[in-house]
Amino acid sequence: MKGTKHTGKYCNICKNELTSWDLRLSKSLAYKNPVCEACIAKEYGLTADELRDKMEDYFGLRPCQGL
Ligand SMILES: [Zn+2]
Repeated sequence: MKGTKHTGKYCNICKNELTSWDLRLSKSLAYKNPVCEACIAKEYGLTADELRDKMEDYFGLRPCQGL
């Protein structure tokens, strides 16, 4: 499910290599130092799935949301 492309960037918290999705999340949430999805979810007290859901809403990527 997660992107497999190597970005050469690492999570500021757990030091795992970040995917492009992780980077996108970090950027959207205005993290100065990029962190991975798992660490972001932990910080928000969400599961990765819940976070993904929220971000889909936030990014407006979900179809049929309608304004
Ligand atoms: Zn991490």
